[in-house]
Amino acid sequence: MAEMDSRHYELQDRIDKLETQKSTLLRELDDIEEQYGKTDKLYKKYLPLIVDSVADSDSMFSDVCKELSLALKKGASLGKLEYIFNQLKDVLLKEEVEAVHGKKGWLPSFVKKSSSSLIEDFKNGYHDIVNSLKSTMGKEYNKRLDLITDKLNQCSTSNDINEIRNVLFALLQTYISDTAQDREKITAFVQEIVKGIFDIETSLAASYKHTGDIIKLNNGFESALTLELDGLKESSNVAQELEDLKRKIAERLAAIDNALKDKRAKDQAIKNGAKQTIEAFKKGFVKLKKELTEATEQSKELEEKMYQDQLTGAYNRRAYDKRAVEEMDRFQRYGNVFSLLLIDADHFKNINDKYGHAVGDKCLKEIIRRTMTLLRKVDMLARYGGEEFTIIMPETDKQAAKQAAEKIRKNIEKIEFVYKEKKVKVTVSIGVAEISKDDKKFESLFERADIAVYQAKSNGRNQVVAN
Ligand code: GH3
Ligand code: MG
Ligand code: MG
Repeated sequence: MAEMDSRHYELQDRIDKLETQKSTLLRELDDIEEQYGKTDKLYKKYLPLIVDSVADSDSMFSDVCKELSLALKKGASLGKLEYIFNQLKDVLLKEEVEAVHGKKGWLPSFVKKSSSSLIEDFKNGYHDIVNSLKSTMGKEYNKRLDLITDKLNQCSTSNDINEIRNVLFALLQTYISDTAQDREKITAFVQEIVKGIFDIETSLAASYKHTGDIIKLNNGFESALTLELDGLKESSNVAQELEDLKRKIAERLAAIDNALKDKRAKDQAIKNGAKQTIEAFKKGFVKLKKELTEATEQSKELEEKMYQDQLTGAYNRRAYDKRAVEEMDRFQRYGNVFSLLLIDADHFKNINDKYGHAVGDKCLKEIIRRTMTLLRKVDMLARYGGEEFTIIMPETDKQAAKQAAEKIRKNIEKIEFVYKEKKVKVTVSIGVAEISKDDKKFESLFERADIAVYQAKSNGRNQVVAN
């Protein structure tokens, strides 16, 4: 009985032990399963991140990562996964060797442009602008443009950039105020240049700051990645079990994920910084643009004054001389016919003597005001001097010019000032002449118009004579 008892206890003991062993094994199995589940989740969570981060590199590593990601999603067999891990390990080793030998690995592709090449981009953009200015602005500006080219060649910092931009803007301002003709064209040209500068600097501001900081940041990111990937490689070498390998890899991937998150946050901060730089550039440009617009307007006013008769508001003798040359050029080049009217107020001295100079002035103003309403846009009315006016009529032959002159004469005849209850009347004599091939100079056309005026005067005034 005692023997039975002891045998029973022995068995019981063994059963207990087996039970304990069994539950330990079951617990271990649970642990493993739990671990497996966790690992599986980690893969699904982190691998796409890695794939994303290397997606734009054309490396083998990226291809194998994608394959692994796909296999995990599909729930491939452990054998298949082990095979892919081995591939991953091989590829990593190969990439590292290539990177060391200066070939294109996936890590170096993270680091894009260097900051010195950005300064070069900036220089090239500005060189283009300076060249386009050279071909448009005329030789007298070449010296100053050459100076800018020199500065560009020596330029190495963003302060140099600011200085060059300021010099260029100052030059453009001088150009606007120096140039009296074709204002619209010049303003458009200057605006185009300003826009060009703006575009270059905006894109540079973005990439300059961005790239500089990205390089710094990528250095940190790269070493973090290298560390983790080295670990990954080591793990696959020393791991005995697939489960062990998986666990170790999951840890590394989690670390890489953190590095990526960190990098992304820092990238965002850099982007924000670049935004601020661009805003600062924009502000500077708005100010410069405003200054340029003001300079353009000022010079426009100056130009108008330069070519305007102060008393009547008509064009002055200077404007007439300039237009005469232009019209003559057009005639000689394209044979475009035009006519000249010479208007001389009759007995104007008498008006001054009778009513005073102020009334005489009013009469002159009124003559201009009334005559303006009868002219076409292309016609040019100028005060030639004293009580004499000229009208250049493009695309107008003698016959048409004579008709226009007659209208003008009649219109002036109607003017009636009331001065101290007396009516003040004013009349004009007009000489008309049409350009001919025999006119080598504008002066000979003027002479014919002058003779016509003289004839009108001697025929009794207040009339038109075409010559
Ligand atoms: P004619 O019919 O022969 O042209 O006689 P006229 O008196 O107009 O000719 P003349 O050339 O001898 O005199 C021109 C006058 O025009 C002399 C001057 O007093 C007057 N005059 C010239 N400029 C001005 C001006 O700006 N204002 C005023 N009020 N008079 C002027
Ligand atoms: Mg006169
Ligand atoms: Mg006169």
